[in-house]
Amino acid sequence: MAKPDLSILTLSEQLRTEADAYKFLEDLRWGDRPVCPHCGSVEKMYFLKPSNGETRETRTGTASERRVWKCADCRKQFSVLTGTIFHGTKIPVRTWIFVVFEMCASKNGVAAREIQRKYGLTGKSAWYMLHRVRFAMERDPMAGLLSGRVVIDETWIGGKPKNRRTVTATSAARVGRARPTRRRSSRSCPAKPARYGRAWCRT
Ligand SMILES: [Zn+2]
Repeated sequence: MAKPDLSILTLSEQLRTEADAYKFLEDLRWGDRPVCPHCGSVEKMYFLKPSNGETRETRTGTASERRVWKCADCRKQFSVLTGTIFHGTKIPVRTWIFVVFEMCASKNGVAAREIQRKYGLTGKSAWYMLHRVRFAMERDPMAGLLSGRVVIDETWIGGKPKNRRTVTATSAARVGRARPTRRRSSRSCPAKPARYGRAWCRT
């Protein structure tokens, strides 16, 4: 979803209200013409304007800025969230967009605890949100993006280069390590002198 020029700053300027968040998703999902998620029609859609111009009352009596549309073909109502991972959510759509952005922009991923602290959510909500977004990433159309040539970010395995040792078949045989080594658990590892590296724990 991240446009190339999208940053946390431009996003927060763009999404000042909950209605802005709906419009943002409508633009991403439909572009200029809403598509009915019930019958697939693109013919004629009505935007149902709230009676006071801004909010509508929910079943629980709270005011919602949810943008609702109605299809002229099947006569059903829908919003941009219908049929998506956000369907029926009680978490503000603005929060969802920020969380998705963070997940896409963070090189090392985001922890549920981090989302909980940053957005003032419960741990359960934060965990659920990350889970739903990952669920969507596993499926089309997101999964379909990872076909053909895929470029991934770099990763580092191991410690400092100066500690790197090259073990070839010859050198392994020379030092008697041709057989696979058994790694002891840390509990059985003797007290480790500081000047020895990780090799101390290996047999
Ligand atoms: Zn329809």
